[in-house]
Amino acid sequence: MWIYTDKISEYENKEVIIKGWLYNIRASGKLLFPEIRDGYGIVQGVVSKSDVSERVWDDFLKLTQESSVIVKGIVKKHPKKTDVYELQINDITIVNIAEPYPITLKEHGVEFLMDRRHLWLRSPRQVAIMRVRHEIIQSIRDYMYQNDFVLFDAPIFTPNACEGTSTLFSTDYFDLGKAYLSQSGQLYAEAGAMALGKVYTLGPTFRAEYSMTRRHMTEFWMMEPEMAYYDLNDNMDLIEDFLEYVVQRVIKNRKKELEILKRDTTKLEKVHKPFPRITYTEAVEILRKKDIPLYRKTQNGEEEIRPFPWGEDFGAPHEEALVEDFEKPVIIHRWPSAAKAFYMKRDPENPDLVLGVDVLAPEGFGEIIGGSQREDNINLLIERIKEHNLPMEEFQWYIDLRRYGSVPHSGFGLGIERMVCWICNLEHIREAIPFPRRPNRIRP
Ligand code: ATP
Repeated sequence: MWIYTDKISEYENKEVIIKGWLYNIRASGKLLFPEIRDGYGIVQGVVSKSDVSERVWDDFLKLTQESSVIVKGIVKKHPKKTDVYELQINDITIVNIAEPYPITLKEHGVEFLMDRRHLWLRSPRQVAIMRVRHEIIQSIRDYMYQNDFVLFDAPIFTPNACEGTSTLFSTDYFDLGKAYLSQSGQLYAEAGAMALGKVYTLGPTFRAEYSMTRRHMTEFWMMEPEMAYYDLNDNMDLIEDFLEYVVQRVIKNRKKELEILKRDTTKLEKVHKPFPRITYTEAVEILRKKDIPLYRKTQNGEEEIRPFPWGEDFGAPHEEALVEDFEKPVIIHRWPSAAKAFYMKRDPENPDLVLGVDVLAPEGFGEIIGGSQREDNINLLIERIKEHNLPMEEFQWYIDLRRYGSVPHSGFGLGIERMVCWICNLEHIREAIPFPRRPNRIRP
């Protein structure tokens, strides 16, 4: 019977078939130890010259790394290691002998591997990351389903931008002029929330920013829930409940993968609500107390500003300093309105602030969520669109949402790859998606 290697423990002393690829092979006298990978794991086979036909033995000697093979054998408990099973192989069918494989089991440079991303994805580490990514997305979908959110797919081609067109990729769109690739599904999700109550979008988004940091890509996936009748506090409660569910489920279901990635999960186990909530102004006070300056690029190099000026957005060193005293994600709310998007609702208690919320992952993984309560007052919204010099005619449909039964509402956006980086403990976002798109990379 054909099985996948992750189920092998269920077949002790039974004959099974494994269809896969040769990962590695060692010889020791009259024994061969081929390691076969099938996408679900790697199993070690044992081929004994005295027990197999000459044809089978010779076939194994022909194999090169990544040759595709179908092997048959009896599942046996490993003589020394607990919970490890091996395959006493009695037959093999060679499907394809691989040409010399460019990625060997020794170390390679990242650019070398990135150029061969289509092959690098076969390595145990990359397989583990992709499975964790899959589990994160499935957990998100399940959480949303169980909590009665409706999946609401936003368009990718858009005529306007959430926050101006400077960071958008554009393309010609027949006789209708320019179309832009969406950088967020939020505005459309707001229409969805007014129709359905609670919705979420999950799809690719695009940012034409030349950001070469370890946390930015030009194409990334975002999950954006949007809820009618939710205020900022409801939004923060949801963020906590949602993050707790996703993190706890992923570490429970993907133990094996997180072990392969050498992820210490004790820190992730602590991700239970409530999370620390601080205002932007309190965060600035913390930075000042810790004496973390703002670095600003000037024509003559870099300028260092101390104390950290109120009103500026945080960079990586600030985010790290803000989370270092906490073991859980840190929620920062009530941001300076000048630093945030036009659609965020003004704080009724302070017009310099908006009811925005960012979430910083612990352990220095940076911002994973950005959200807000949305401006539901039509006049203030129109004022903000004007202030941001956005094309009023393009936003008429969006203003309609305030014309016809405006209600308080809120939502947020979670970057899937940032979440993958955090849970898998990845240094760089390029490993968090099958084929990363960055300013200097569009291939393979
Ligand atoms: P940052 O300040 O880190 O550039 P942002 O404030 O532009 O992010 P939002 O517009 O609030 O981010 O987007 C919501 C979420 O999408 C972020 O919290 C982050 O998880 C993710 N995200 C944003 N930009 C990128 C990017 N270029 N690559 C990968 N993920 C991103």
